[in-house]
Amino acid sequence: ANELEIRNLHARIVDGEAILKGVNLVVPKGQIHAVMGPNGAGKSTLGKVIAGDPGYEVTQGDILVDGESILELGPDERARKGLFLAFQYPVEVPGVSNANFLRLALQAKRGEEVSVSEFYAKLQKALETLEWDESILTRYLNDGFSGGEKKRNEIMHMMVLEPTYAILDETDSGLDIDALKLVAKGVNAMRGPNFGALLITHYQRILNYIVPDAVHVMIDGRIVTSGGPELAMKLEEQGYDWVKELAVAN
Ligand code: ADP
Ligand code: MG
Ligand code: MG
Repeated sequence: ANELEIRNLHARIVDGEAILKGVNLVVPKGQIHAVMGPNGAGKSTLGKVIAGDPGYEVTQGDILVDGESILELGPDERARKGLFLAFQYPVEVPGVSNANFLRLALQAKRGEEVSVSEFYAKLQKALETLEWDESILTRYLNDGFSGGEKKRNEIMHMMVLEPTYAILDETDSGLDIDALKLVAKGVNAMRGPNFGALLITHYQRILNYIVPDAVHVMIDGRIVTSGGPELAMKLEEQGYDWVKELAVAN
């Protein structure tokens, strides 16, 4: 199975409230899917549980990468399985340059040394796509980065790490339109038969630039309806009330 599968996933805050209440979702390799939903629906929790955030525990269900359960794996091992989770990144890494951090991350993912020349070739390509200059490479990771720089940097890391499945949570938040277009350009450059992505977003705006193959709507810890890009347009026009009613009716 060449897909990321979320199967009847139930998860709660450790020793606390249940947040995910039976999420079912399949992202085939080669596709980009969006998860939309109102604030508090559990979208970010879904991303964090996929990342293996120790603050949450899975009480039922499974997460499978290409048919293999990753539930027992730590965050690093999940990365080696091909997952990229932007928000699992450290907030700041003082004393470690952005480029060195990324080279170490790539080596950890591959489990072998990556030559400087190969690494820089990848970096150059990513920087070109993102219309960025090299000065970002020597800065300490996330240290003093603006919100927009952080987001663009996450996409740069994703491009260099070449994950099989990327989970991007609110990648558009706080971005002006030019930054948003560049982030979208980076994600679209990754599109291909060996790349799948789950784009978590409250707003439809980013989906104008990254057109998803499918849109899923989450309400109260469950996916209540799915559709094509037109579903995102409908949510933009009509809000979430009609889906909430659907969730109650089910
Ligand atoms: P979304 O991303 O859709 O806005 P979240 O996944 O961030 O939703 O949150 C879903 C619900 O779970 C919210 O009510 C939120 O307050 C709660 N929640 C999530 N994580 C925690 C946590 N670590 N501690 C307390 N409440 C949490
Ligand atoms: Mg929220
Ligand atoms: Mg969120």
